[in-house]
Amino acid sequence: MIEKLRFFGDEILREKAKPVTNFDKNIREITKNLIESIKHYEGIGLAAPQIGHSVKIFVINPIWFGNEKNREIQIFINPILLSFEGTQNEQEGCLSIPEIFEKVKRAQKVVFKAQNLNGKWKKYNATDTFARVVQHEYDHLDGVLFVDKIAPIRRKLISGKLKKIALAH
Ligand SMILES: [Zn+2]
Repeated sequence: MIEKLRFFGDEILREKAKPVTNFDKNIREITKNLIESIKHYEGIGLAAPQIGHSVKIFVINPIWFGNEKNREIQIFINPILLSFEGTQNEQEGCLSIPEIFEKVKRAQKVVFKAQNLNGKWKKYNATDTFARVVQHEYDHLDGVLFVDKIAPIRRKLISGKLKKIALAH
């Protein structure tokens, strides 16, 4: 089921998501909805709180960064970032903060681990866009949004737009 997006100003986006402990029907359902929703909204990444579930799950659509070999939406449950390397400073956007794009400093490489729907852990080495998306989605599970990480002067400049988004939804 495609679920309604939650937007900037919605309290759920500021909550710390709960870890998944039972890989049960409910979790499979939320994951299925995340997959249908990321396709529908044409996102690069989507975290469970963005569709109203405060649990540690996000999905990534690898086709957006030229991964021709892997066209399947990737599922990451209970992600843990293990190490960071280098920096990148690129434009970022977010389905929950429409029409705002700002440069955000992120690590160039990130090593992380996450579980799949069977609870099995896997380790990942992410670089460039993949690394950026992982860090962005991981932040969502911590109640952090990309606009929290931009230069204070930029944040000030977009504060009116942010207020409008919060009021519109
Ligand atoms: Zn986002």
